[in-house]
Amino acid sequence: MKASPQEAPGRRPAIGPRPHRGRADPRAARQSSLREHNLSLVLRHIVDAPTPTTRARIASSVGLTRATVSDLVDRLLRGQLVAELEPETVDRAGRPGMLLAPAQRAVVGLGLEIQVDRISVGATDLAGSSIFQLDAEGNFRGCDPAEAVRRLVRLATPAVARLDAEGILVAGACVSVPGMMQRNDGLVLLAPNLGWEGVPLVALLQSHQPFDLVPVELGNDADLAARAEVRARASSRVGGHAAQSFLYLAGGVGIGGAIVVDGELAGGQHGWSGEIGHTVIDPDGPRCRCGATGCLEQYAGKDALLLAAGLDVCEPIDRLLAAARGGEEPALQSLDSASCALGMAIATAMNVVGVEQVVLGGIYAALHEQLRAGIETQVRRRVLAARWGDVRVETAIEGGDAALVGASLQVLDRVLSDPADWVPAS
Ligand SMILES: [Zn+2]
Repeated sequence: MKASPQEAPGRRPAIGPRPHRGRADPRAARQSSLREHNLSLVLRHIVDAPTPTTRARIASSVGLTRATVSDLVDRLLRGQLVAELEPETVDRAGRPGMLLAPAQRAVVGLGLEIQVDRISVGATDLAGSSIFQLDAEGNFRGCDPAEAVRRLVRLATPAVARLDAEGILVAGACVSVPGMMQRNDGLVLLAPNLGWEGVPLVALLQSHQPFDLVPVELGNDADLAARAEVRARASSRVGGHAAQSFLYLAGGVGIGGAIVVDGELAGGQHGWSGEIGHTVIDPDGPRCRCGATGCLEQYAGKDALLLAAGLDVCEPIDRLLAAARGGEEPALQSLDSASCALGMAIATAMNVVGVEQVVLGGIYAALHEQLRAGIETQVRRRVLAARWGDVRVETAIEGGDAALVGASLQVLDRVLSDPADWVPAS
């Protein structure tokens, strides 16, 4: 599997951007950059359209001439980023236009995920379809980063080889990690529940095939999950514009958070916002893996929930759910105490950030029914805006694999931003 310009005609290089571009003359740069901007505009329009669209509709929506749009669409078709479907049955101008949609199974973003109790790999194409997903359970608390990477590579390699065999191009990979990172340097600064500090994760991955040939980037698990949630809400048209501003909670062994305003992630100065799991609930509480005491994770993280219910930390969360539904007192008390702690932390965050909606993801989506009343009680009592606004606690639409999906989407976003790297020059 090599990115080689000498591939046979009709055969795509399997991985990484194609070496098409060469812009030696600076006089051409302005014109060229405008064309590339328009190429991205048209591709995004086709990808974001709820149903297949036509050149005429794109032209009228983005404000370009029909001829310009046709030229750009032809480039996208040649690069196999877009596919032409059948002619539209009814056309207002009386002439049927060919329907256009993002290409299926042509270019994918590879998502990788390292969680405390699981590693996963998956791929999503430009049409938003999942091509595959593989998971391997394990215990990655305090694990050696090099060993975690080796396991991830073993999981991913056969799947990437199958994509290669099918001629599906891997645009890049993004690794989701439950921690804080310096994305530009590919460095995990701190992932308390993995026991990692200062891990050069991108370099570790790129020391293995096939990741030596592919652009690799990092993402925070809650941020990536929130990103997938934004897309899921947009495609299912949930609640209109207001639904795209929320505080997202990713429940797991750790508790990640992300703030989304008008569909955009609010990352803070360094992209480290949303660390709600380390909100203090009780300064005299139990020691947290971050080094502080009484953090939210010690009351409402997966380990804390299971232990308080008298269960082992290796049990699936469904076991806790079953115990609660069966009326077992320790399980009910565990969920009651977790919902109260969650409500306090959520209320604090909502007062600071000023969003009116909380979206519960990760394990909290499954436990929503058990947690909601307790959270709502705290939120109504403590969020000042609750007097005037409709403060809501909702379940995430995107499921437990949201971070993995978000990682794939983050890769594909680079293709959408700069499709000129992926298509033959005009
Ligand atoms: Zn902590």
